[in-house]
Amino acid sequence: MAKVKKTIKGLTIDADKCNGCRACEVICSAFHAAPRYSSINPARSRIRIVRDPLKDIYIPVQAGEYTASECTGRNKYIVDGKEYDECDFCRASCPSRDLFKEPDSGLPLKCDMCEDDPPLEKPKCVEWCLNDALIYAVREEEVDEAEVSPGDVEIGVESLIDKYGLKQVLDTLARRSKA
Ligand code: SF4
Ligand code: SF4
Repeated sequence: MAKVKKTIKGLTIDADKCNGCRACEVICSAFHAAPRYSSINPARSRIRIVRDPLKDIYIPVQAGEYTASECTGRNKYIVDGKEYDECDFCRASCPSRDLFKEPDSGLPLKCDMCEDDPPLEKPKCVEWCLNDALIYAVREEEVDEAEVSPGDVEIGVESLIDKYGLKQVLDTLARRSKA
């Protein structure tokens, strides 16, 4: 398969620097509101802070892949004397929790690295994190030509098919296209 150069944008998390202020959730939800900046709702953010203030735990987690079924990972981890659940680090939009689901529709949310035209100098959550807990990095990688990340619409359609079945989704689209 032909190889192409792909620009990979990513965030590195320094959880030790996060104080749980949730500014990243605020700006991410505002930036992705329609129209842009028309509303703020952290439940719509594509980055969420897993917080447990009594244990001094604050972990920024950026929304990753959609998955139709939950995994079996229920391990506990001790890092620097703090106990974490395996799910605390997971980026998936999955059935076992409410994170990374659009609150009204239930459709999965995924971080799009604030793609915009013209491109932003850095993602909004990085810009708004005054504690430098989120570090932005760009690198070039050779990938298979067919390896293209699905966009919001594709992820949404996939989750609707998982929920209602392909036939019902196709019938609905056919009805809507005639309206
Ligand atoms: S803005 Fe930074 S410090 Fe505040 S919650 Fe987000 S990652 Fe943590
Ligand atoms: S990079 Fe953009 S889309 Fe991704 S979590 Fe940060 S603000 Fe949200």
